[in-house]
Amino acid sequence: MNEVKYKIGIDIGGTNIKMGVVNDKNEIIAKKSIKTDVKLGYIKIIKNMANAIKELLYLHKIDLNNCISIGIGCPGTVNFKTGEILFAANLLWEGVPLAEELKKNIDLPIKVSNDANCAALGEAIAGGAKGVHNMVLITLGTGVGGGVIIDGKIYEGGSPGGVELGHTVLVVDGEQCTCGRKGCFEAYASATALIRDTKRAAEKNPNSLINELCSKNLSKINGLTPFEAARLGDEEGIAIIDRYIMHLAEGIIDIVNIFRPEKILLSGGIANQGDALIEPLKKYVKKYTFAGDKIHVADIKQATLGNDAGIIGAANL
Ligand SMILES: [Zn+2]
Repeated sequence: MNEVKYKIGIDIGGTNIKMGVVNDKNEIIAKKSIKTDVKLGYIKIIKNMANAIKELLYLHKIDLNNCISIGIGCPGTVNFKTGEILFAANLLWEGVPLAEELKKNIDLPIKVSNDANCAALGEAIAGGAKGVHNMVLITLGTGVGGGVIIDGKIYEGGSPGGVELGHTVLVVDGEQCTCGRKGCFEAYASATALIRDTKRAAEKNPNSLINELCSKNLSKINGLTPFEAARLGDEEGIAIIDRYIMHLAEGIIDIVNIFRPEKILLSGGIANQGDALIEPLKKYVKKYTFAGDKIHVADIKQATLGNDAGIIGAANL
């Protein structure tokens, strides 16, 4: 009888490290999460990660000999050839030999890629773009990240640092971006940008419903506040959402014009707005994409796997 061969997927985040055992049908059959204690330093963090994997396997009676590989999705800039993390700001990591260090603890083949790349691969294998060979995932969170899948594989670029979809400029000399440049896609389409614009609008127009929704405490404004205001017919809310969708659409059109993917998936809290976000977005993208009236324009949908995307994608590196 053939033993099922398992793959291990790990998704490192600034708060938690999530790991899972994935079977040959790309189902997660066992999962575990540990806290990322950044203060411990990378050697201890990686050691804890290895111990957590061993515990998980033991708990589910899975023999390490039946596992064929480990894949890791990590935030920051990754050298996918060597498995080194060049830098990851939220982990305070610089030049961390992640694959090499983990291999000292668990002797399996180990591959590493950026976390957004892994999420894109996971969605293409088992999620909202299942069976689609050319797709792009855009994550709308604190920043704007993403992954590009070409012919079923992550597009890594020729050297580390590629596919920073959030740091393409939409507005020359526009809003300040965290990367040092001004006017990046991220500085307009992230949740952070949406909150910034909502706060500004609330300050400028104290009669706006936004001020009521946050009980006149602007620090309570989150990414959902302007959507809620717009839904209730508030003019300021509607204007913020219209502008947000315009910027998001313009960024997506650039991506479509370059890659012409079959599908675009959106993930992150803002993507949960569903049709209120996606329907007007689709219309705008279709209208302004190059030859959008003649050639197929990528369908835009919400990603479906949530946190599992990163684990499944990493396991398939
Ligand atoms: Zn930037």
